Amino acid sequence: MNFYILTLFPEMVMGGLTTSIIGRAVQAGFLHIEAINIRDYSANKHQKVDDYPYGGGAGMLMQAQPVYDAWQAVAGRIGKKPRCVYVTPQGKTFTQKDAKDFAAEEDLILLCGHYEGIDARVLDEIVTDYMSIGDYVLTGGELPAMVMVDAISRMVPGVLGNQESGSFESFEGNLLEYPQYSRPEEWNGRKVPPILLSGHHKNIEAWRRQQSILLTQQRRPDLLEQADLTEEEWGWLKGIGVRKT
Ligand code: SAM
Repeated sequence: MNFYILTLFPEMVMGGLTTSIIGRAVQAGFLHIEAINIRDYSANKHQKVDDYPYGGGAGMLMQAQPVYDAWQAVAGRIGKKPRCVYVTPQGKTFTQKDAKDFAAEEDLILLCGHYEGIDARVLDEIVTDYMSIGDYVLTGGELPAMVMVDAISRMVPGVLGNQESGSFESFEGNLLEYPQYSRPEEWNGRKVPPILLSGHHKNIEAWRRQQSILLTQQRRPDLLEQADLTEEEWGWLKGIGVRKT
């Protein structure tokens, strides 16, 4: 999969996406990650990319022209109009389901805003998806773009080696992952649940499923509402005092 990140701070995004699992996947050719410096496309002789917003108000806005030209350079090179995500607090909240959905694309452009954002006219022209990483305002789109590239990349076949991939992960079926333990069997007076040492795979699986359900109920009751639970599991939850609303 190919990622093209349009940004004023290419070194920031590339610095964060060339290490560990994502870095290895790039080296192995499963991913191509490229940061395009919007400033390189400024038509201004001082490479200015921002100006005051019409109508007044605080701060500066990124101008349409350099953003459009940077986008056009990428789209022209790819030879088609790929999906283009503007990361913005005004977008839909990015979820694991979105990560899976975007991972099916061959090419994806991510546009990072800065200052007070970007002239709305160029957004209308090039953006296909508006995505937020949460209800708070950051100084720039670089961290959100890095978050999205990381989460999407994990869903691209080959990126996670057998060591890293799990058959079950949080948000699968709207449940959180069960608690996990490693050596030693006892640490700080706390023992690993004996069932995990039993070697009985069916019982371990059943225990993990119950733990997943309990953890989701404790930490994310909103998720549990939409979880894929059997009637029997709802019955068990009811037995311990948890009601489906
Ligand atoms: N004036 C904008 C508003 O009120 O919606 C906020 C601009 S913010 C200071 C600058 C840039 O950071 C945005 O253009 C966007 O690209 C990025 N950004 C900030 N918070 C974000 C979030 N929660 N999710 C995604 N991008 C975000």
